[in-house]
Amino acid sequence: MKFRGGYNILLQGRPERTIKVMPEPAVLYLPLRSHRFLFSELCVEDGQRVSDGDVLAKDSNNYAVPLLAPRAGTVRLKAVENHIVLEDVAHLEEHADMDEEEMSHIVQEMGAAGIKRYKLLALGAWQFFYDAYTGALPDPLGKPQAIIVSTLSLEPFVARGDAQLHRRLLNFTRGLEQLQSLLEYQPIYLVMPDINSDFAAQVREQIRGYAWAKLIEIPLKYPYYNFNILAMSLGLKKDNGTIWAVRTEGILAIDRALTLTKPCLVRIVSVGGPGVKSPVHIKVMPGYPIQEIVDMYVSEPAVRMLNGGMLTGEPVGEDALGLEAECRGVTVLAEPACREFLGFARPGSDRSSYSGCFLSSLRGKFRERLTTAMRGELRPCISCNFCEEVCPAGIMPYLIHKYLYRDLIEEVGQARVDLCVQCGLCSFVCPSKINLGKQFVEAQDLIEEELQHESVEEESE
Ligand code: SF4
Ligand code: SF4
Repeated sequence: MKFRGGYNILLQGRPERTIKVMPEPAVLYLPLRSHRFLFSELCVEDGQRVSDGDVLAKDSNNYAVPLLAPRAGTVRLKAVENHIVLEDVAHLEEHADMDEEEMSHIVQEMGAAGIKRYKLLALGAWQFFYDAYTGALPDPLGKPQAIIVSTLSLEPFVARGDAQLHRRLLNFTRGLEQLQSLLEYQPIYLVMPDINSDFAAQVREQIRGYAWAKLIEIPLKYPYYNFNILAMSLGLKKDNGTIWAVRTEGILAIDRALTLTKPCLVRIVSVGGPGVKSPVHIKVMPGYPIQEIVDMYVSEPAVRMLNGGMLTGEPVGEDALGLEAECRGVTVLAEPACREFLGFARPGSDRSSYSGCFLSSLRGKFRERLTTAMRGELRPCISCNFCEEVCPAGIMPYLIHKYLYRDLIEEVGQARVDLCVQCGLCSFVCPSKINLGKQFVEAQDLIEEELQHESVEEESE
């Protein structure tokens, strides 16, 4: 496989592989919105007592993917805007909240394979699946052309695959076998890092007997683990049908749902970045109070928290009280209270940069203590070409930026903005700090809208 561009950001605060179990909470704040889902169809009433695994709400625009109660508790619907709050939380025996009538209907229509897919959806495992090209939730009853299973997460910092696999290798291989049983003949590509370690050797040994799994080893460089990049590098064309993509946590969730018939109620989430005193992975459930995580792990008085990694994470809003259902990591950066006086002029032996312009380029590699402070950036494009060098999609970000600046949308399309995988590297390395990634997401949406508009017009003619 050939990869282009890529760059590893050395950031302080890498979480250790060990996983800590968080104390049981008294209250859970479950956001009704997550990265991909909007759980707008409520299935419970205010004041209702629910058990672990009960369906609280569904996203009717995403195959009715459920928001499950991670613990037993009393439902409060109006206590906090855009959240379902669970009070008097208790950990009882979890149960599978499945609709018997719907199941017998599926058995008649689709047989045993249909029931497995229904279980994945109802027990919260399907939400770990992605369409490799679009990132959307694929149709659980659909037929993919191939499946990509990735054991890697290379963005600083989201939950690492090796942390999740550690001590769960048996569950992982069982989950892989369950996944294979859903398919007819479609290939499964299992993506691993091309490293020599005892643990990697153990994983390779475990899957050696699986003729149906094709092992793909890739360099540890951001963002080569990105599903879009992997699908392109494997020559899997978008036009030949959906490509399902799933990470380590998804395979473990499949095992839980199909082998044990248990709901997937907890997640492994990383808590890392320079604002964290002892970066870790934590075992935690959606809705867990963010404040409790802050009290336990955050060392700085003023911080900016990202839901996700340094490059693609979104700022955690002040109104978000609990972890959202798809959270994979929390990255914490220090937020300086005031501007750094003449920050741009300081030589900076403690700062690194893609351009190697600081004194730090004379030092060996080191993990940088990034903050949210600007350093004299925010300028027009200086045509340094760094963005093109790192872009894994092989497009010219600065050129697209210039077309966008002049509103030349047709040229933006011709420059293949559609290939952008939104990895955020171009914005990171840009010395002028132009928010290229964000501009390209907006441009992709605009072009998509125009295409839809044109096809509606053509149909009505
Ligand atoms: S243009 Fe897109 S794919 Fe290329 S570096 Fe920027 S965000 Fe990543
Ligand atoms: S990295 Fe920034 S300044 Fe350099 S060419 Fe790209 S857009 Fe222009």
